[in-house]
Amino acid sequence: MLAKQTPLTKQMLSELLRASSSKPKQLKKIHAVVIRTGFSEKNSLLTQLLENLVLVGDMCYARQVFDEMPKPRIFLWNTLFKGYVRNQLPFESVLLYKKMRDLGVRPDEFTYPFVVKAISQLGVLPCGVSLHAHVLKNGFECLGIVATELVMMYMKFGELSSAEFLFESMQVKDLVAWNAFIAVCVQTGNSAIALEYFNKMCADAVQFDSFTVVSMLSACGQLGSLDIGEEIYDRARKEEIECNIIVENARLDMHLKCGSTEAARVLFDDMKQRNVVSWSTMIVGYAMNGDSGEALALFTMMQNEGLRPNYVTFLGVLSACSHAGLVNEGKRYFSLMVRLNDKNLEPRKEHYACMVDLLGRSGLLEEAYEFIKKMRVEPDTGIWGALLGACAVHRDMILGQKVADVLVETAPDIGSYHVLLSNIYAAAGKWDCVDKVRSKMRKLGTKKVAAYSSVEFDGKIHFFNRGDISHPQSKAIYEKLDEILKKIRNMGYVPDTGSVFHDVEMEEKESSLSHHSEKLAIAFGLINGRAGHPIRVMKNLRTCDDCHVFSKFVSRLTSREIIMRDKNRFHHFRNGICSCKEFW
Ligand code: ZN
Ligand code: ZN
Repeated sequence: MLAKQTPLTKQMLSELLRASSSKPKQLKKIHAVVIRTGFSEKNSLLTQLLENLVLVGDMCYARQVFDEMPKPRIFLWNTLFKGYVRNQLPFESVLLYKKMRDLGVRPDEFTYPFVVKAISQLGVLPCGVSLHAHVLKNGFECLGIVATELVMMYMKFGELSSAEFLFESMQVKDLVAWNAFIAVCVQTGNSAIALEYFNKMCADAVQFDSFTVVSMLSACGQLGSLDIGEEIYDRARKEEIECNIIVENARLDMHLKCGSTEAARVLFDDMKQRNVVSWSTMIVGYAMNGDSGEALALFTMMQNEGLRPNYVTFLGVLSACSHAGLVNEGKRYFSLMVRLNDKNLEPRKEHYACMVDLLGRSGLLEEAYEFIKKMRVEPDTGIWGALLGACAVHRDMILGQKVADVLVETAPDIGSYHVLLSNIYAAAGKWDCVDKVRSKMRKLGTKKVAAYSSVEFDGKIHFFNRGDISHPQSKAIYEKLDEILKKIRNMGYVPDTGSVFHDVEMEEKESSLSHHSEKLAIAFGLINGRAGHPIRVMKNLRTCDDCHVFSKFVSRLTSREIIMRDKNRFHHFRNGICSCKEFW
């Protein structure tokens, strides 16, 4: 293609670059030719090359090309910043920003959104604060996109008051600004704040649009607030806001996230228009809710209709297999995914994690370990974490220790892995090892994420921590809890003290168990909820063995359905049985 005899023009090289835009090796060859022919004096070819390298994610080479440029324009600096953000290389981004300042290059309005995003990825608050000062000094804070990124950064750091302050002092709060803020709240998992601001927005008489509705439906999905979500949807209809397929998909997703699978299926069947997102949402939703059969049946139906699945669809299919312990089916779908040989369907880390989860939970721990070692992508903490979780379930101390060693190396600051490891030791009665892990956690400053549960009642979300006494109805809640505990003990419930963290006295174990947040939430639901309606509890972490047994007994005692969504999946407790069939 690049024969020596052919005299190459700049135009030809530019076309070659365009044709090779997704081929890193070709790009490097062309670069060599560009240098040989002396065209490198002309920045336009190098600009094109740099853009292509950023697109294919070869940031190392992109940087080399950038450094060769005599005086790169601000556009090229921004291209590199964009590439660093896309490829999750925040540290390089920060160093580049420093270089930019050292050279006295003035950033423009496109620079800061990328740099702020990089700081968010880096996760270092003081850097964020000093960058915010630069933004202010350079006069870019009032720009919507920069301000939004700053708000997002503060939200990610958990600095909610700074984020809110920034939003409140933006110069113009038009619909775009409100939508951006609400969307950021939802994306960072602050759905209760999103709801609060939606109400403020309505009080300010700002007319919302379909973007707002989509954000709010997904907020309600996160919060498990089906009633509030439906109210917002109804309002949107009444106010003739366009409820396009994106809105309808969001509504479907909300129903599934609230455990309302039957209603979701009616919505799905009635949809005038369905796209791959609708199908995937339904399949993932069924999987999460433990209806693996329905999920797989829907996948077959989708294929029969000739619709091409995407990577989310496969995630749903694999997690359906994982939740039902369908090892052979899982393997079959995974190899189908590989066989389809579609660039967009190459298994991602999430798919590998699903397979590890499936093998691990089914007790095939060694096979899962071998699977990880043979993976085509670098295993991340999520994948190792899935195996560690399985080791905890199957109480395999030896492999558990091996996996924990890898995790502690790669993610020393993630407290949940340390907790899992110490649970494995606790189950084996190795209290000296438990102590060691705990003191290591203290030394590293790793914190356990505080567990909480929430219930929606009367248009409000009620949150409970373990042993919480801050709720106005606290007294009644604890009385109700005592009453239930007494009754279910007579039915044969025995507290599972094995899931308590440390070797404390038996009585203390029982009382700390009985005040877990989900138990308080269920008691609250029993006091306030309408008879015959399910009690929906959302839990931010995985529910413990004891709360699982407790919920089964309560569903039987009270003839009430309890729908609990924990970090991993849904549990529908009906008449003493859980939909997860103990596979979680
Ligand atoms: Zn519990
Ligand atoms: Zn369950």
